[in-house]
Amino acid sequence: MLILERAGEDEKSYLNAVTPPIFMNSLHVFDTFEEYHDVDVFEKNQFYYGRASNPTTSIAEEKIAELEHGSRAVMFSSGMAAASAAILAVCEAGSHIICMKDVYQPVKRFLNFYCIPKLHMKVTYLKGTDLNEMEAAIRKDTALIILESPATFIYTVVDLRAIAELAGRHRVKTYIDNTYCTPLFQKPLDYGIDIVMHTLTKYLGGHSDLMGGVLVSKDEELMRRIMNQIREWLGGVIGPMESWLVIRGMRTLDLRMRRHQETAQAVAEYLEGHPKVKRVYYPGLKSHPQFELIQKQQSGSSGLMSLELNAPADDSLRFVDALKLFRKGCSWGGFESLAMVPLYYLEQEELDFLNIERGLIRMHCGLEGTENLLEDLQQALEVIGN
Ligand SMILES: *Cc1c(COP(=O)(O)O)cnc(C)c1O
Repeated sequence: MLILERAGEDEKSYLNAVTPPIFMNSLHVFDTFEEYHDVDVFEKNQFYYGRASNPTTSIAEEKIAELEHGSRAVMFSSGMAAASAAILAVCEAGSHIICMKDVYQPVKRFLNFYCIPKLHMKVTYLKGTDLNEMEAAIRKDTALIILESPATFIYTVVDLRAIAELAGRHRVKTYIDNTYCTPLFQKPLDYGIDIVMHTLTKYLGGHSDLMGGVLVSKDEELMRRIMNQIREWLGGVIGPMESWLVIRGMRTLDLRMRRHQETAQAVAEYLEGHPKVKRVYYPGLKSHPQFELIQKQQSGSSGLMSLELNAPADDSLRFVDALKLFRKGCSWGGFESLAMVPLYYLEQEELDFLNIERGLIRMHCGLEGTENLLEDLQQALEVIGN
């Protein structure tokens, strides 16, 4: 992919090195004070201080902007730094937000325990699949619709084009966490969504060795505000080393995603046909309730899926612990396969809100090889019900 290889890079200015350097500097110096004073970091190749911008970070940002069909990307120290920056950039004290129930838990906690009590915002949670319900929820003070599609845990998919059109009519901004698909499998800006967020910690980094986040948009005015105000003032900038690792990771994004997808599809189909498995949640399965919509707006699915066993929640723990290749851990998007029971210790009230079973198992299919993972699953399933 040409975009991944060369976009944003200027080999000539780094002595024809095939890989750009890590600009490990906190400031840039000038011959005159006027030159320093005239710098506009929103312009290309203008730098003065590391909290405002960094040349290695700019290269990664340009690549991600191109991949997402945006005009501008701005990177942060984590996915949550990007998510909270977007919310604070779009909303004001007292704003109303519409948020999908299934979005990443810490985003909802930021809304519930910070934005609502401290900034007097109001939030309406809904599933996101019913457009009439969404339109009815829009009020005069609605500023933002927060989406994630496919969303955390059971991969609920929402109609991006229809929601963008609806929001546009009411002058409400739309935001989507596109981490699951990566820019390779879904480009929400093409459907009219205003802001795309990714955690770089997952597939874009791809090696479980960095933390980062990014916002992408075509709205230059908004992105200027996000870059020159929100990021600079809250200070959640990504380090140059991490940006360089993102560039390194993205060079193989296409290869990795295709392998994650191939393996996950085989694993999902195997599990779906197993008598001890009650249900598999994976966007690549024909049994997904929104399979048709998925075919329309996604060009692929990644390595993450969930399943429910025909067994009590405690058996989910036994199953996960019996897995050998699937390690136990919370992240995903790296080379390694992971399994966990993410909702096991949740309050019943929260489970009811999400309408998901306590014993739900989430699995990330890594790059260890399809056959190896299938064997591992087979031996762990034997533990259940015996
Ligand atoms: C991990 C994750 C995040 C948060 O990213 P961090 O880099 O950990 O802050 C946000 N959204 C989704 C879907 C995630 O999986």
